[in-house]
Amino acid sequence: MKAVRLAKYHEQPKVEEVPEPKMTGPLDVIVRIGGAGLCRTDLHIIEGQWAEITGVKLPYTLGHENAGWVHEIGSAVSNVAVGDTVIVHPLVTCGLCRACRAGNDMHCINSAFPGVSVDGGMANFLKTSARAVVKLDPSLAPKDIAALADAGLTAYHAVKKASPLLYPGTKTVVIGAGGLGHIGIQCLKALTPTEIIVVDRSPAALELTRSWGADHTVLADGSHVARVLEITAGNGAEAVIDFVGERGAEQDAVKMLRRAGSHFIIGYGGSL
Ligand SMILES: [Zn+2]
Ligand SMILES: [Zn+2]
Repeated sequence: MKAVRLAKYHEQPKVEEVPEPKMTGPLDVIVRIGGAGLCRTDLHIIEGQWAEITGVKLPYTLGHENAGWVHEIGSAVSNVAVGDTVIVHPLVTCGLCRACRAGNDMHCINSAFPGVSVDGGMANFLKTSARAVVKLDPSLAPKDIAALADAGLTAYHAVKKASPLLYPGTKTVVIGAGGLGHIGIQCLKALTPTEIIVVDRSPAALELTRSWGADHTVLADGSHVARVLEITAGNGAEAVIDFVGERGAEQDAVKMLRRAGSHFIIGYGGSL
């Protein structure tokens, strides 16, 4: 099969021919990939930022935002059948450890992370497990929803965490209206009554956010911190949700924050 392989850090990955994944356990599920998202994390992986954290052996296949159709199931799999349309939770988890039993799947002590620590889904086929596949309505096209497997979960998780603080009358700054931010803004609108201020470098992205519920849009052109302070009567916002986290955004976030405000850092790459 074809796969997007990273052979060396700081070099572009290449499409290569590799063997198809093989079933090894009764709960394995092999998914025929219909869509695989490109995440900023893939770029950070190429930059070597994850090398020490995961210790992954190169070359390997990228791709942790995956959706497709069930291709093969292990003997103990009962939640999906061959042919089902599925979205793939990014982590392969055991379901048995304390974290899994508490619903904190991302902290599973027996996990594997396809696309980050083992072969991922930028390929014809991906091996995952029963616990990680979520059956979807067959009318959904995997390529339309694959990115929700990570970008959707990440943005929703952050906004859900912030939501108890965002009562009526509060203002929230969203930095970045890209892959994560555009979902985060919609989650904020759906989950909270907060007034939403979106900061981005792209006028086109800002334009789109207005139809999703942005109350104020601020172009990141150098005057954006001052503009946000103006909108918040000089006080700063109750919450800043930073979906960028690098190239200066991480510094701006602090400046836009009200005293005793809450700073949520989702994007990464910079340092404070
Ligand atoms: Zn990601
Ligand atoms: Zn577990």
